[in-house]
Amino acid sequence: MLSERTLVAFRSVLGADRVFDDDATRALYACDETPRRIEPDAVLFPASHDDVAAIARIAFEHGTALTLRGAGSGNVGGALPAPGSVVVSFECMRRVLEFDPDNRLIVVEAGIVTEEIDRIARGAGLFYPPDPGSSAYCRIGGNLAMNAAGPRAVKYGVTRDYVLGLRGVTGNGQEIRTGCRTTKGVTGYDLTRLLVGSGGTLALITEATLKLLPAPEAVATLRVCFASNRDALDAVSRVMHQPVVPCALEFMDQRAIDVIRPTGAADDLPAGTRALLMVEADGATEDLPRQIAALQQALDGAGLLETKSGFEAEVITQLWAARKSLSHAVKRIAPLKINEDLVVPVSQLADFVDFIDHTAHTHRLAVVSFGHAGNGNLHVNLMVHPDDADEMDRAHLALDAIVLRTLALGGTLSGEHGIGTEKRRFVDREIDPATLALMRAIKQQFDPHGLLNPGKLFPD
Ligand SMILES: Cc1cc2nc3c(=O)[nH]c(=O)nc-3n(C[C@H](O)[C@H](O)[C@H](O)COP(=O)(O)OP(=O)(O)OC[C@H]3O[C@@H](n4cnc5c(N)ncnc54)[C@H](O)[C@@H]3O)c2cc1C
Repeated sequence: MLSERTLVAFRSVLGADRVFDDDATRALYACDETPRRIEPDAVLFPASHDDVAAIARIAFEHGTALTLRGAGSGNVGGALPAPGSVVVSFECMRRVLEFDPDNRLIVVEAGIVTEEIDRIARGAGLFYPPDPGSSAYCRIGGNLAMNAAGPRAVKYGVTRDYVLGLRGVTGNGQEIRTGCRTTKGVTGYDLTRLLVGSGGTLALITEATLKLLPAPEAVATLRVCFASNRDALDAVSRVMHQPVVPCALEFMDQRAIDVIRPTGAADDLPAGTRALLMVEADGATEDLPRQIAALQQALDGAGLLETKSGFEAEVITQLWAARKSLSHAVKRIAPLKINEDLVVPVSQLADFVDFIDHTAHTHRLAVVSFGHAGNGNLHVNLMVHPDDADEMDRAHLALDAIVLRTLALGGTLSGEHGIGTEKRRFVDREIDPATLALMRAIKQQFDPHGLLNPGKLFPD
C-alpha cells in the first residue's frame, strides 16, 4: 500500500493536479488490452523529462514500484499495473521538441501519438514508416518499449530501425542519453537498441530522436485469393524470393475469411476462396506498374483464384475492406481472444499453419490466424469462453504445442507485441539459461531494486 509520505513526495514535485489516487482514476488505469485488471495505488501524470526523473528518484528512495504506460493498447499485459505499484502515464508528454527535415529527423516526447509523427513528417515530404494497427492512439513510448511494427515492416523494418537516440531515466533515478543524432555512430555500446524492446523494464523513456524517410509518391494494392492456406503461403515464399519488395504482404486464413462473411466484407471474393493475401507496393508513380507486374508474376501459381489490383485511393480502400473488418469481426466468435504473435521463417509458414489447423481440430478450438506473412509473423488467435474450464484447459494445451512448434521451426515468441506478463512463462523455452542470466544482470544494473515494471518479461 502506498504510504501517505510517498504520495506527499510525488505531489511536492508534480503538483496535486498530476497525482491521483481516487477510485475512479485507479479503475481507469487498471488494464491494457488484456482482460485482467489490477488497480494501481495511484496514477502520476508527468509533464516533462524532469518530472519523470523526480518520480524515479522518489520511487527509488521509497521503494515504490512503477508501471509505465502509454495508451494502454498493448496486448500482453505490459501496462497492466503490478500489484501495489504506481502508474506513470506519459500521456501529458506529447511535444515535438525538434523537427529537422534537412537531417530527416524528429525529436519527440514519449507520449506523442504515433500517427502524429507520421502526419508531421508528411508535411515536409517525409514519413515515419512504423505503422502499428493502433497508430491512431498508441504512443511512441509504448512503441519503443515493445519495438512495435506493422504491415510496412516487410519493406521498412520495425521501430528499432528508426531510433537514432533516446533520453530516459533508469530505475535508480539516473538520467541517461543514448545514441546520437546521425545515421552513423559507433561510440560505446548500443544502449539505444537495448532499450528498444525492453518492455519498460530498464528505463523510463522520456524522449526519442527518430529517423524519417522520404515519403513514397504513390501506392498500389493487390488482393489475391487462393484455394488453400498452403497455396497462399507458397506464394508468399515466391514473392520474398524475387527482387521487388512489397511494402505490405498480409495473410488471412480460411477461418479468418469465414469470420468476416456475416459482415458482408467477403461478398465479392470468388467462390472457393480459402485464403487471402494483401500485397502492396510503393514508390515513384511511373514505377508502380512494373512493381505490380513483377509481384503478380511471383504470386501466380497453384490455387490462384483471382487477383484484383488498385491504383487509386478509393479502390485500394475497397480492396482492404476484408482485412480491415477482421479485428472487430473476430470478437463475435467468443468473449476471450488468446492472442499470440508468433514468427517463423517465411518458408516454414505453410507447414506452421497446417500444424495450427491440426492442433485446433485435435483440441476442438476455434483458431483464427492472420498477419504479416512477409515477415513470417502470424497472429494466432485462440477464441475461447473463459467460464468453460474444459475449453480453457484445451486452449492451454494447444498453445503449448503451438509455441513449441514455433521454436522447433526456428521461430520466436513475439514479432511485435512483446512479452509483458502474458508470454513470460514461455521465455525460458526460447532463451537459454546463461543468456537469460546475463539479461537479469543487465536489468540489475539499470534497475537495482527491480522497481520498473516488475513481473514483466522474465519468467518466474
Ligand atoms: C487494434 C490494435 C491493433 C494493434 N496493432 C498492432 C500492430 O500492428 N503492431 C504492433 O506492434 N502492435 C500492435 N498493437 C499492440 C499495441 O498497440 C502496441 O504494442 C503499442 O506499441 C503499444 O503502445 P501503447 O502506447 O498503447 O503502450 P502501452 O500498452 O501503454 O504500453 C506498452 C509497453 O510499453 C511500456 N511503456 C510505455 N511507455 C513507456 C515509456 N515512456 N518508457 C518505457 N516503457 C514504456 C509499458 O510499460 C508497456 O510495457 C495493436 C493493438 C491494438 C489494440
